[in-house]
Amino acid sequence: MDRFQHYIDGSFADGTATFESLDPATGAAWAVMPLADAADVDRAVTAAHRAFTSAAWAGMTASARGKLLMRLADLVQAHAPRLAALETRDTGKIIRETSAQIAYVAEYYRYYAGLADKIEGSHLPIDKPDMEVWLRREPVGVVAAIVPWNSQLFLSAVKLGPALAAGCTVVLKASEDGPAPLLQFARLVHEAGFPPGVVNILTGGPEAGRALTSHPKVAHIAFTGGPDTARHIVRASAENLAKTSLELGGKSPFIVFEDADLESAANAQVSGIFAATGQSCVAGSRLLVQRSVKEAFLARLKAKAEAAHIGAPDRMETEIGPLCTARQRDRIEALIAQSLAAGAKLVTGGHAVSGAGFYFPPTILDCTDAPDAPCLRQEFFGPVLSVVSFDTEEQALELANETEFGLASGVFTRNLTRAHRMIRGIRAGIVWVNTYRAVSPIAPFGGHGLSGHGREGGLAAALDYTTIKTVWLRTSDDPIPDPFVMR
Ligand code: NAD
Repeated sequence: MDRFQHYIDGSFADGTATFESLDPATGAAWAVMPLADAADVDRAVTAAHRAFTSAAWAGMTASARGKLLMRLADLVQAHAPRLAALETRDTGKIIRETSAQIAYVAEYYRYYAGLADKIEGSHLPIDKPDMEVWLRREPVGVVAAIVPWNSQLFLSAVKLGPALAAGCTVVLKASEDGPAPLLQFARLVHEAGFPPGVVNILTGGPEAGRALTSHPKVAHIAFTGGPDTARHIVRASAENLAKTSLELGGKSPFIVFEDADLESAANAQVSGIFAATGQSCVAGSRLLVQRSVKEAFLARLKAKAEAAHIGAPDRMETEIGPLCTARQRDRIEALIAQSLAAGAKLVTGGHAVSGAGFYFPPTILDCTDAPDAPCLRQEFFGPVLSVVSFDTEEQALELANETEFGLASGVFTRNLTRAHRMIRGIRAGIVWVNTYRAVSPIAPFGGHGLSGHGREGGLAAALDYTTIKTVWLRTSDDPIPDPFVMR
């Protein structure tokens, strides 16, 4: 079996304990992973804290930090095929997607490499004659970054890139499900030449997560995962009062009006809910379709869902690979059963594929007569689409906003003024119009409500890892007058 190690303080080390990682395509163990405990986490945070003020890092110019990030980007690009193969092996995500996504991950490091020396302070036109006052943007300190199993390299890049550009140091905890690509990525961080302790990468479950998020030396927690875990994290941050940015789940509406290009919308819907086997936070998992085109649209979708090629994730022709874990498969099956009991009707799919591996087919549930079905409220994180229909634009908007989440949304229409009204009315962090699941390092990404807060991507994300220092410099040579009066 393959073996992986932690990366702490510039060295590769075994964990205090280990666990076996399963190949989701077969259900068999294929690699031995280190399992971090609180002591491993403490070593990593201590190293990151020391590195934060070290001459090697704190004394490095922002431009030099940018060059290190650029070197990392080049290494990610050069090693993309190996990283993609590992992500596919350890998480079951299809090679078609991991290859494309990891090559693009390099662009995130490039973007933040370019940004490192553009994080500027400012000068204030202060209302006192003998003072110069300016603001310095300084790195917040040690960042605890925690990612879920899906797209770990991508979800790490949107944390590491801006945090390192800002001058922070990082302890990154990979998910205990499928950590291989991140532990391998640590080799590239090492090769790029970051000083020891600047980036530390380990894996482990809730114990490591709790130790990391409550650690007194952590200043910012950047978390991607589910809302329940986020609640634990916010409670843990009561210990260190660390700032948090939370990228959580969604139940994103995908709205199709009768004037839309139905073929294009159907392809976008397939990409929005069946690609990545639905294990995507922005999955367009609630289809709201205008009643007049419902049957026609569903017929297209059903045909596409049933034609999707389910198979081994490491084959280029595969379109639907396995889910990451058996736990996830069982959860999806249970939620479908509850939804059927509440009146939802199965259009296609609905049952796990028998045999080895954690496969689940594209599934469509028609909830037209089951407005209270749990599939309309709860996130599956799997290839399950719930459908309701509407008659008017007002109803579409009302249904779209009937969620505690607020991450993404899609609007399909050729009517420009309606598109603008929908953009204004939808409560979500992202609105895609006539497209879906497009991302870029240049565009902020995130949500509100149960989808979390804070934004990843773009300039604002780098500023989020900084704090403002206000500097007052007196320019007068006269002695300070009356010390009992505030200046
Ligand atoms: P999860 O919340 O179970 O786990 C996420 C991470 O948190 C893992 O690394 C896990 O080890 C860690 N963790 C678990 N308990 C912890 C604790 N008590 N303290 C600290 N860390 C702890 O999520 P998951 O099931 O791995 O992933 C699926 C979820 O992630 C979905 O809800 C999905 O929508 C969300 N997600 C969101 C985005 C986004 O950008 N908004 C992207 C991908 C996934």
